[in-house]
Parts: sequence; structure tokens; C-alpha cells
Amino acid sequence: MTLIDLRSDTVTLPTEAMREAIQRAPLGDDVFGEDPTVARLEKMAAERLGKEAALLVVSGTMGNITSVLTHCARGEEVILGDSSHIFLNEAGGMSALGGIFPHTIPNQPDGTLRLEDIEAAIRAENIHFPRTRLICLENTHNRCYGAPLTPEYTASVVALAKRHHLLLHLDGARVFNAAVALGIDVRELTRGCDSLNVCLSKGLSAPVGSVICGSHEFIARARRTRKMLGGGMRQAGIIAAAGIVAIEEMTDRLAEDHANARRLAEGIAGISGLATDPSRVRTNILYIDLIDRRFSDEEFLKRLAKKGVRLSHTGPSRFRMLTHYGIGEKEIDAALKALHNVMQGCY
Ligand SMILES: *Cc1c(COP(=O)(O)O)cnc(C)c1O
Repeated sequence: MTLIDLRSDTVTLPTEAMREAIQRAPLGDDVFGEDPTVARLEKMAAERLGKEAALLVVSGTMGNITSVLTHCARGEEVILGDSSHIFLNEAGGMSALGGIFPHTIPNQPDGTLRLEDIEAAIRAENIHFPRTRLICLENTHNRCYGAPLTPEYTASVVALAKRHHLLLHLDGARVFNAAVALGIDVRELTRGCDSLNVCLSKGLSAPVGSVICGSHEFIARARRTRKMLGGGMRQAGIIAAAGIVAIEEMTDRLAEDHANARRLAEGIAGISGLATDPSRVRTNILYIDLIDRRFSDEEFLKRLAKKGVRLSHTGPSRFRMLTHYGIGEKEIDAALKALHNVMQGCY
């Protein structure tokens, strides 16, 4: 029985080309700024994402916290979505580590924040209020079915931020998925953002790492923040070598993951007892609801696991599935068969 792990695109293993690149990578001490492979990755990532400079960090969470701590001082406020990864899934780092105040506003089903809601959340100058410093967007939006934010929408938030003298951070963990889904250059989605985070270790299949990008000045300050967080790494070219392959070779193929996610959603829509919305699937993330109450969420997961299929549990009766490198049409069809059989009660 082959294991079909749809819990996350983080389960992807490094490709053969990555393993070879790791083997061959020239190395040095990156805390001294002497690792040529890290330097190459950072230069390449900056160019590809349309920014002056980049910085390799351990994870997306470290990329976001490094960016937020670099932008904001204690007592300052960040406007972000109430379904955002930074708010929900990063251990409250901005408050715990930075004394920074999160001000949440609703994420719309398409992952956007309404411009009116952002404007209303911006604080007036008044000694009673914290100072608003930063707005965060997320593209693609994890909790909102992997929705890609468009360049037009991003530009409208960039303009709003500029008008109010605020900074804008993009949690672009899957921003390459957004660019591929929209059929555009990724720079159209990063233009005007003061900083952004991109994960190399999700659909792009690198074993470890994210990069943050921004101006030379921002990245110089972020380098100090990363050091403070314990993220100064020595022969990090071992990681960067795989990251280079991720950016060079693994972005275009994300289209396959998107097609597979649609195939999966369309199949699930035809299975009684389960519900999903195939029309919302634009990238590699989908959510399903267990409507049939014959078995509990735990029982549903257990029966699927017995058939080699794993999903993640994201709420009562709600599950998330992600397609990724290593999951092809064959695996999608096998997963659909397993779901069908579990719902039919044959196991
Ligand atoms: C995965 C993810 C992160 C964090 O990345 P880690 O490497 O898991 O720390 C941040 N934002 C979004 C939207 C993500 O999906």
C-alpha cells in the first residue's frame, strides 16, 4: 500500500537534483557572510522576486517574525486577517517576542482584506492609541482555500499603505503558486511590498528554509533580527543549495499540483457524505466537510489512514488536503477511491 499524504505540501522530499546540489555545494561560514551558496541563493531569490536583497531563514514562521520585528517597535500595531497564518499559527510571536499588538480584521472568502476595513482599523494620532505600523497580506491564502490574491488587489493595498505611511509585509509562503495560478510573473504580486516571505520547503520541495526579501536597508536590519532569534547559520549552503534548485526548477510544475487539486475536488464533490467546493480550488489547497455523521472525525481519519490516505483535521467536521510534488493523477484517483470506499462503509 502506498502512502498518500495530503496533510500538507511540507511533506515533500528533496528531489534527486537537490541531493546532488547539496553534495556539491561550496560552503563557508554564513554568519561571517562567507557562504557562497547562501549568497547565490539570496541574490537569485531577490532578483526573481523583484527586490534588492534577500535573507535565508529557517522557516516561514521565522521569515514572518523576523520581518515583523524588523518593521515594528514595542507597542506598535499590525493590521492582519483573522484567518491569517501569522495570527493563527505562529505561536503569537509578535506579541510574545516583540510586544507588538495584532489588530485583526475579517478575511473575505477570497483571502482579501476589505480596503474599508483596513482604513477603519488604522489608528488616528492620539495618546490613547497604539501606533499602526504594518499591514500583512497572505498570498496564497492558506485558510481561504488557497486563494491567490491578484496583482490589482495587491496594488490597491500598496497604495493604501503608502497613503497612510504604513509598511506592507506579504506572507507569500506560496506566492509562486499564486503566480502560476494567475499565469503572471511573481514580481507582479510582490511589487510595492516592503517585505515578503517565501517558503522553499513546501510545494517547491526543498528540505528546509524560507527567504525574506526587501530593500538592502531592510535586509541589513533583518539580518540582525535573525541573529537575535538564533537564526544565524554557519555552513547554511547545505540548505541553500536545495533552495536554488527549488527556485530554478520547481516553480513551473506547481501547475500540476493545481490541476490535481481540482481533480480531487471534483471527485470528492461526487461522493455522498462529503462536501467541498471545486469552484474555489485555484491552487493546491482544498477543504472538505464531513456531512455524514455516521462516524466521528477521528473515526473518519482512522479509516482513511488504514487505506493509506492522510488528511489534516482543521476544525469540527472539517479537513484540509494539499496536493504536491510526489502526488500524481494516479495517487489522486487512489485517494478518491479510498474516500469513496470509506463513505460506502466498505473497509
Ligand atoms: C506554512 C506557512 C507559513 C510558515 O511556514 P513554516 O515553514 O511552517 O514555519 C507561513 N505562512 C503560511 C501562509 C503558511 O502556509
